[in-house]
This record gives sequence, C-alpha cells and structure tokens, in this order.
Amino acid sequence: ANAITKASLASPNNAKTRLSPDSVLNLAQGDPTAFEPYWRNLGDKCTMVISGSDLMSYLSDMGNICWFLEPELAEAIRHLHIEVGNAISKDRHIVIGTGSTQLYQAALYALSSPDSSEPISVVSAAPYYSQYPPQTDYLRSGLYKWAGDAFTFDNDGPFIEIVNSPNNPDGTIREAVVVNKGKGWLIHDLAYYWPQYTPITHVADHDIMLFTLSKCTGHAGSRIGWALVKDAEVARKITNFIEFNSIGVSKESQLRAAKIIGVICDGCQDFESSKSDTNFFEYAQRLMAERWKKLREAVRSSEVFSLAEYPLDFCNFIGEFTKSNPAFAWLQCKEDVDCEKLLRELKVMVRGGKQFEADEMYARVSMLSRDESFNLLLEKLSGIKGGGTING
Ligand code: PMP
Repeated sequence: ANAITKASLASPNNAKTRLSPDSVLNLAQGDPTAFEPYWRNLGDKCTMVISGSDLMSYLSDMGNICWFLEPELAEAIRHLHIEVGNAISKDRHIVIGTGSTQLYQAALYALSSPDSSEPISVVSAAPYYSQYPPQTDYLRSGLYKWAGDAFTFDNDGPFIEIVNSPNNPDGTIREAVVVNKGKGWLIHDLAYYWPQYTPITHVADHDIMLFTLSKCTGHAGSRIGWALVKDAEVARKITNFIEFNSIGVSKESQLRAAKIIGVICDGCQDFESSKSDTNFFEYAQRLMAERWKKLREAVRSSEVFSLAEYPLDFCNFIGEFTKSNPAFAWLQCKEDVDCEKLLRELKVMVRGGKQFEADEMYARVSMLSRDESFNLLLEKLSGIKGGGTING
C-alpha cells in the first residue's frame, strides 16, 4: 500500500489526482489510459477468477516452438488479426514476450550471429522511437550495436533495420530505407498498426512483425507483446532468448490478454453483422479522431506550434476513408525554438526532438492520456501566443 501511495504522489496524472490549471502534465510517455472508460463500461465482461492451484507450471504447450505460450492466447491473437485484417497470422509462428520491448531484444539476438567478428549494426530511420538505442546498447552486447539513422547508414556490412509503421514519434507510414537488402534483416515494429491510429490499408506480411497489447487495447500493465514470425528457426531463437531471460511470460497476463482480445473479437463480429453500433476499435478510432480535431484547433489558436497533416486513406476495417490519428503528436515550433523547453514552461512534460535524432524545434506529446489531462493540455496549448508568452 505504501508503494501505491508513493506512486500516486509521484505521478501527477494518476486517475485519483484532481488536476488544476497549474498542475504538471506528464505526457512524456505513451501511457495508454485514454481507453479506460471503454473497459470500465464493460463492467464484469472481462473479469476472471484465478484460483490458488491454477497456472502453477512453467509449461504451456510443449508441441509448440514457443512452449510457454498459452494456446488460448495464440488462438485469440490469430483471430484478432483476421478480424482486423492488419497482418497475416495464418501459418506464422507466434512468440510472446513481456511487452514487445522484450521481443525487440529477443529479435536482435535471433538475427545476430555468435560467430561474427563484429557486432551487427542496428538502424532505424530518424526520427525513430527513442527507446531503440538504449534497449540495443544497455548491455554492451558483442552481438549487435546501435548504428543510428538508417537514412545515413553507409556501412557495407550486415545490418538489422527496424521499420516502425506508423512511426513513433511522427505517425508517418514507413517502409525499409536501407538499399543493401542482401546483407540486411528487417524487424517490423507494428505497435500502432491498429484502426484507432491509422487506416488499415493492407494485410502486413513481413518476416518478423512485433505487436503489443499496450497500444492495441491499452492494457500496457499486463506487459504482453507478440511476434509473428515466418521462419521457424528465427522463432526458435526468439523463444530461446525469452527462455534465458525470463523462462517464459506470466500465465496470468496471458490469460487476461486472451480474455480481453476475445471480447474485442466478439465485438468486431457483432459490428460486422450490425448487431452492435460500437466495438472497441470503432470507439477508439472515434476517440482519437475527436482528440486530433481538438488538438488541431488548439494548435491553430496558439500561433506558436504546428502539426503535419496526414493523408486520407481507405480503412478496410472501418469501411470508410479515414486519416491517421497517431498515438503521439509531433509538435513543431518555429526554427531556433526549443519545443520541449517551451512546453516545460507550460508545465507539460514531453520528449524533445533530440531524443529521436531530430531537431529540438520538435517535441513528442502523448495523445493517450486520460480525458482530464488531455483537456488541460488543450487549455495550456491554446493559451500560448506568438513569441512564446503565456496568456492568462
Ligand atoms: N515499440 C514502439 C514503437 C513503442 O512505442 C512501444 C511503447 N511505447 C513499444 C514498442 C513497447 O511496448 P511494450 O513493451 O509496452 O509492448
């Protein structure tokens, strides 16, 4: 209880904390609490009871490459991709991890060679997710090393390119950029390829695709991520990493994820047959579109910030033309203005452009906070006028 009290004091955006116009807003992380009301409204639909003798074994499915994957979760994940149409899951190996963060490291391990004299270079096109460099280098592995922006990578040697699409931080749709494909491996981080963030234009089919429950349903606390992998040997090596690192993934989390994904899939089927006018993705897409509309209005009246426009595209899931409504706003200030610093004056904590190998005139702001925090962000942004002075 003590730890919980401490955590609530430390976090200014805790659900129980009332915000005042002067409160500090922490929008530096993409904590996906925006979707809580949807799940709260479902009442007991996702509640599960786990007894003392349940789930005691390390093992789940010894016939599967990923032997610690609960079959219910594997089935739920396959079903989810079929319903949404965002990625091929049939005939793909599923490996789960403690968040896709663990799978990122497992995939680097799986693609690198212990016999190589030099660590393999890991690159991603800037601006890239700020956690890729530290996650790659924190153990100073002899197998792989961070080599920065994929656009400027000119080494002839082997490489791994991370393709994050839609991209964190700027929401763009991406493809691999390094041309020397013969010597390279690709990891597609598709954490945000869900209808609430971007139109689902095609069924993704890449060698290694990473997904996470955190951004799909908002259940970041369960720490469930999954990889869809074409090659059995690569899937086996990814599984080995997780075996060495944590001997598997929490079964409680897996079953909760299976339950939640199952409820989403049921909702999708009712939606298709017009038995229901809302399912999770439709709700979340509407929420994100409303937030982006309000953000654009606030930014327009601020005279200080600007935002890129995203193209309209047909979303095969929603069945309409939609625009991207990314999980982060990539705010731009005028040249020579440090955007993160300016926002800090407004008591809004964000990540500055430099952390993504971009200019400091940019900053990344989470769009996934609770309503109260988001509304306060709008107030703070629209109150700022040209020259950086704060109104009122
Ligand atoms: N990839 C990207 C692009 C992300 O933004 C995040 C979360 N911020 C992750 C991976 C990791 O998510 P998790 O470990 O919660 O699954």
